[in-house]
Amino acid sequence: MAKDMEPGSKSKLREFFLANIGRVLNSDELKAASGNKAEFARRIRELRDEEGYRILTHNDRSSLKPGQYLLETSVPKPAFERNISKETRAYVLDRNGFTCQMCGAVAGEPHPDGSGRRTRLHIGHIIDKSKGGSDDYSNLRALCSVCNEGLSNIPQMRPDLKKLLIDIRRAKTEDQLAVLEWLRQKFPDKLKK
Ligand SMILES: [Zn+2]
Repeated sequence: MAKDMEPGSKSKLREFFLANIGRVLNSDELKAASGNKAEFARRIRELRDEEGYRILTHNDRSSLKPGQYLLETSVPKPAFERNISKETRAYVLDRNGFTCQMCGAVAGEPHPDGSGRRTRLHIGHIIDKSKGGSDDYSNLRALCSVCNEGLSNIPQMRPDLKKLLIDIRRAKTEDQLAVLEWLRQKFPDKLKK
């Protein structure tokens, strides 16, 4: 492969994003900035997945339209999440039922914070690395974008079973039925008679 003296389209995009933090960018601007129209979307994915830049799209923010991109901070995601293997990710998500372990948001469903955005799950630590937590399966859990960034207002304690059952018993019948429906979908085999 020939080495070009010009900066590559990825570094041009990186610079353009960093010069426009907090501003919504559209695909035409980004195509022009990258100097490579055919590859710009792939380069953005690489900046996000390999370098950890938190480039948001309409999948993360309901206020963004398809084709719009937003970098809110120059601080990349921790290397840990970028380096996590597909297998580990799949294992943890499956073990956690594709549900955020803090707020209960389900992958792909509208987030319970009412923003209308679809829930996207990340892998986070149970005990933080700074407090000695490991990258072992046993110390990993599924977290939605909101909880992963510490933005959730929802209490972060896992509900106590006894209190949970009391809450369900006290709930309106229609809410109890909604819980039943949700459990049926989540555990189709366990509820078969
Ligand atoms: Zn959450």
